[in-house]
Amino acid sequence: MDAILDSAPAQHLIDVLSLLQTRFGTTYDRARTLLFFYVVTKYGIKSLRHLRARGTVGTLREGWSWLSERTLLLVLALPPMVAKVEPQMAKARKDIEKKLIPSGPQVIRYLSLPSEGQSRDWILAEMDRMDSYCHSFDSKGAKLHDWKDGKISGAVYHGGQDLTNLIVAAYERYCVSNPLHPDVFPTIRKMEAEVVSMCLRMFNSPTGAGTMTSGGTESIVMAVKAYRDWARATKGITEPEMVVPASAHAAFDKGAAYMKIKLHSIPVDPITRQVDLARVRRAINPNTIMLVGSAPNFPDGNVDDITGLAKLAKKYNIGLHVDCCLGSFVVPFIERSFPPGTDGYTMPDFDFRVDGVTSISCDTHKYGFAPKGTSVIMYRTPELRRYQYYVTSSWPGGVYASPSLSGSRPGALIAGAWAAMQYMGENGYHQSAKNIITAARKIIHGIKTEIPELYILGNPPVSVVAFAAKEGTGINVLKVGDTMSKKGWHLNALQKPAAVHIAVTTLTVPVVDTFIADLKDSVKEVGSSSGHDGTMVALYGLGSSAVGPNLVQEIAASFIDALYKA
Ligand SMILES: *Cc1c(COP(=O)(O)O)cnc(C)c1O
Repeated sequence: MDAILDSAPAQHLIDVLSLLQTRFGTTYDRARTLLFFYVVTKYGIKSLRHLRARGTVGTLREGWSWLSERTLLLVLALPPMVAKVEPQMAKARKDIEKKLIPSGPQVIRYLSLPSEGQSRDWILAEMDRMDSYCHSFDSKGAKLHDWKDGKISGAVYHGGQDLTNLIVAAYERYCVSNPLHPDVFPTIRKMEAEVVSMCLRMFNSPTGAGTMTSGGTESIVMAVKAYRDWARATKGITEPEMVVPASAHAAFDKGAAYMKIKLHSIPVDPITRQVDLARVRRAINPNTIMLVGSAPNFPDGNVDDITGLAKLAKKYNIGLHVDCCLGSFVVPFIERSFPPGTDGYTMPDFDFRVDGVTSISCDTHKYGFAPKGTSVIMYRTPELRRYQYYVTSSWPGGVYASPSLSGSRPGALIAGAWAAMQYMGENGYHQSAKNIITAARKIIHGIKTEIPELYILGNPPVSVVAFAAKEGTGINVLKVGDTMSKKGWHLNALQKPAAVHIAVTTLTVPVVDTFIADLKDSVKEVGSSSGHDGTMVALYGLGSSAVGPNLVQEIAASFIDALYKA
């Protein structure tokens, strides 16, 4: 070792280094001090912004739950705990699989390709057989959750059998088409551009621009990507943040996670269920790229103060995305049948007429009755849409340019969406919106006048109605939801606060009276403790304990695993 250090080349190196040290020593020290202050300032500002966005109490609470979660995870990883928890988890996994995967002698599992192709008749007959054993039945032999009976919240957006037949015809005609090749499928290109154009006019922006996507989630993730790239290109923002109402769809969390954006989740007002504008303003800083409002939101169907959000977006020169994925083909027609203020409901302004709204997502596959796998993302300007594209000119496969996440896309679905919109027309959508909103208001009225144990979350003006148990009634609303399941209803459980919602669809409209009667009975049964415990109580009852979120995440992942068990 010493021999090496004493060698001539080593000595030479040491000489050079000490020369550098004497020449540039002070500069080096100065640089080091500057770097130190840069790091301290950078993280100091970051922490202060975080503190301002979350508030002192919020930050402390966040820190505390982070700490307790880590501690509990450590404890849970100890062998004696693993031995205790693992059998419970295994049981939960087994239960999930038992519910999802059919078993019995009649079940044939097709785990690898048949060596010879099957006939069309065989395939259709096999689908019949699978349908007969994959569904669960109640004690009277009736199919549980048959979507045609309308007892399902949201999920199925049915435009009638004639429309279904038309969509199938459109699909057949354009089955192999792909808008990635507009020269081969020019009609598909035309139809996509027209679907976007019709939506832009519905949302009052004849000069805007947009694209179709595979669904609401893709529309939202694309908007998040567009704002991220816009902010990077025009403002040099490299650590983007977004400010999102707690009531906004999980697709924004997903987009933030995929696109590496810091997300501030802002609480809603407990009475109006609209996002707290003062808190939104506090969360905005120079790294903010976008705000979000929902019209309406998924959990309780209320609409944020879009005008208030738009003022903030304009003031800070950031984007405002309005999520009309669910509102889709209902909100544009609400004004016509329900002028503002009639009926005690107010629909806030939400579309491109509000200065400051820069993008809107609208699901054709919800109240547009288009086939599943279609949605539209719209921007106020074609320039903003540019930031959504992906283009690379250096790929050996050629110059590659695509508007959204997918490469190849189903032209047949675009044709289906175009066909549905032509078939329904303004008057058709207006009528369906009127029926849906009227039914939702009937449910609200029914709960308010006939079920004193429950209250409605906010004052939802559109199609979703969420209800919770009043304090002091001793009613567990999740148990009410589970009791409704026993009566054949498929509703959604909500958390923070615990509540249950129904999204009214065309199929629900004829069974609104049954809904109110069943809900009334369910509340009575739960009150006299003869109600039922089921998935809602099991899954969402856990949420409030410290380990709850982790266990729920584990169970949810197991649920997805189970979906892929053949
Ligand atoms: C349904 C929905 C979305 C997105 O849904 P997809 O399932 O991806 O089509 C987004 N926002 C709201 C409010 C929704 O209800």
